[in-house]
Amino acid sequence: MLQVTPVRAFTDNYIWLIHSPRDASRVLVVDPGDAKPVGRMLAERHLTLAGILITHHHSDHVGGVAELLRNRDSSAAIPVYGPANETIPGDPTRLREGDHARFAELGLEFAVLDVPGHTAGHIAYVGHGAVFCGDTLFSAGCGRLFEGTAEQMHSSLSKLAALPAETLVYCAHEYTLSNLKFGLAVAPGNQAAASYFEKCQQLRARDQATIPSDIRQERNVNPFLRCDDETVKQAAEAYAGRRLPSQPEVFAAIRQWKDGFR
Ligand code: ZN
Ligand code: FE
Repeated sequence: MLQVTPVRAFTDNYIWLIHSPRDASRVLVVDPGDAKPVGRMLAERHLTLAGILITHHHSDHVGGVAELLRNRDSSAAIPVYGPANETIPGDPTRLREGDHARFAELGLEFAVLDVPGHTAGHIAYVGHGAVFCGDTLFSAGCGRLFEGTAEQMHSSLSKLAALPAETLVYCAHEYTLSNLKFGLAVAPGNQAAASYFEKCQQLRARDQATIPSDIRQERNVNPFLRCDDETVKQAAEAYAGRRLPSQPEVFAAIRQWKDGFR
């Protein structure tokens, strides 16, 4: 299984370090929004940065790229990969669905999925039993629609939900508890969500991460992946005050509901 180390940044971001299975001291970093905590972790654990993967252009995901490239301690260039259709610092290799981010000497390779919705060009990296999905899929939730449509986001989430059930979900924010509060308002009878909420409350009380989740868990507890569920559909229709005959319409209604949910 992939060895992954979380780096906490800002108030609730996770920056992920992916260790090479051939040499655990060499790491890729995913979405380094802040170079400082990444630099500290690299120094503390004697790790070498061997590559940068970016999911989308928001500053809490790319803000540390320039400084990490400047501070590199070896003479070797650090490759940067990012979405084909967004402006990313560090002159990245531009990736779209069907492309791969390959690091042959590290023994790491990730397939790219286009997952627009949160931003127009958002991509996800899939490989080694894991998905790094930025701000598209969160545990028990999903990203806000800043640049894309509800249809796009629904289709992006459906793509992620179709990954093998045991795939570990490395998203970029610790939003799980507030997402579950919303999920339980949508579907109060969801026992899997209720017991996951209890588990996550215990983790957070000890200041531990609820991430990674996995696709099986998300299919069971995430209302945004359950637009085909009769309870979710009925709750969405009650919120919208009209019939919602298609899953993207159900998705759009609960996404809008969540935007105003406190
Ligand atoms: Zn974002
Ligand atoms: Fe973010």
